[in-house]
Amino acid sequence: MRRPRRSEDYKEYKIVKDLSDAEIGFKESKGLDVAFIFPNSYSVAVSSLAFSWVRDLLSKYGVGVERFFYDKTFKKFYSLETLRPLDEYGIWLFSLQFETDILNIARILKVKGIPIFSRDRNPNHPRIIIGGPVTYFNYKAPLQIADYVYRGDLEVYINEFSQFLKGEDIEIPALCSHERENCELAILRDLNLMPPVGSIISPYSEFKNKLLIEIGRGCIRRCAFCMIGHLQKPARFLRPETLKDIISKIPKNISLGIISATVTDYPWQDELIDILHDRRVSFSSMRMDGLTEDLLRLLIRSGQKSFTVAPEAGSQKIRDILRKDLTDDDIERALKLGIEVGFRKIKMYFIYGVDEETERDLEDIAKLSINAKKMGYDVRVSLNPLIPKPGTSLEGKKMEDAKTLEEKKSFLKDLLKKGGISFQFESIKKSILQYKIANADENEIVEIINRYA
Ligand code: SF4
Repeated sequence: MRRPRRSEDYKEYKIVKDLSDAEIGFKESKGLDVAFIFPNSYSVAVSSLAFSWVRDLLSKYGVGVERFFYDKTFKKFYSLETLRPLDEYGIWLFSLQFETDILNIARILKVKGIPIFSRDRNPNHPRIIIGGPVTYFNYKAPLQIADYVYRGDLEVYINEFSQFLKGEDIEIPALCSHERENCELAILRDLNLMPPVGSIISPYSEFKNKLLIEIGRGCIRRCAFCMIGHLQKPARFLRPETLKDIISKIPKNISLGIISATVTDYPWQDELIDILHDRRVSFSSMRMDGLTEDLLRLLIRSGQKSFTVAPEAGSQKIRDILRKDLTDDDIERALKLGIEVGFRKIKMYFIYGVDEETERDLEDIAKLSINAKKMGYDVRVSLNPLIPKPGTSLEGKKMEDAKTLEEKKSFLKDLLKKGGISFQFESIKKSILQYKIANADENEIVEIINRYA
């Protein structure tokens, strides 16, 4: 692609080119069939294994796919592979990872002069397809924008979907359209059939300079608020021999990001430690009740200074309501273990905004954080309002209103400040918007997009 002449376009081109140049990995382009767009920033996009996995998977089936991401200053949107502008692609495939990203999809269409809602477009416009985690629990709202929504694991119908992208008129059970609104949720039964391994390493990823490998999909638990624990069933894992084989082909100097809903629930823990013992790794997520000395020592050897856990609540009462299956003893044991192996920094995630919560339950969040500080940790807590989502045990439940959440937030803030704990609250406004989009029907989503995009 020749560099653009207009200085405004060149600025945008240069941003994408610099990010692309910083990537190490497979970049070959097989043509200009499909623009695969993550409607979020580059760093969020490249932190997801799907960003390269979907491209690579489709490309194995003969579909040329190039990657794009969202930036609110962009007008052209250049591909990371060949730096060609988005206008040149006939199919725009979006990965909807987070509810509010639907607004960025609408913004991209708006900037490109394409009608946002599918009912207003004609065959001369690009075909819009949306997939990704949000469509697992709400596909009717995205269908107002998209011509098609693919629900579930792409691997299940990869062959059929590739043919569809190449223009074949083919029915796919997981592909919803306005003519076919009742579509199934595709769940890949065996992860070992197509082990998901990334092909891009970026210094801008949350998994900085790491190659991502998904060792588990779905979760064996069923925490009340969690979509993964409800809709991605059964939990599926890479067998140790598959993992061993994959890792033996990756040069030793490449660090690995191991992805799973909870790495601590991987059924073959001893084998996992054995396979990874001489690698530099980080884990996407660990449960406190499953932490072992071996896992934590592996992280320390990999140069990790801090570890992240999610007690979700300070009191047993709220943890039980959230069905977290985590006891005070589990938490105490995990905190002690972390100190024993040498960690001095910890990040803890909490949820607040549960109906049954009293001041005492909120005080328990602060107490738990202060207790960790007393044990020797530099503690950082992240606090998020509870967002009831469809498909979970909280389906149909109302989210607490902004006023109540603000009161709880300021109560918690005072306690944490007094205890010398550093904290970060997720925006209440954005969380309420996320709740509205997650639960939106066909009419509500149109109103939300018209109002916020
Ligand atoms: S353990 Fe984590 S991933 Fe599994 S259901 Fe609970 S919150 Fe979800």
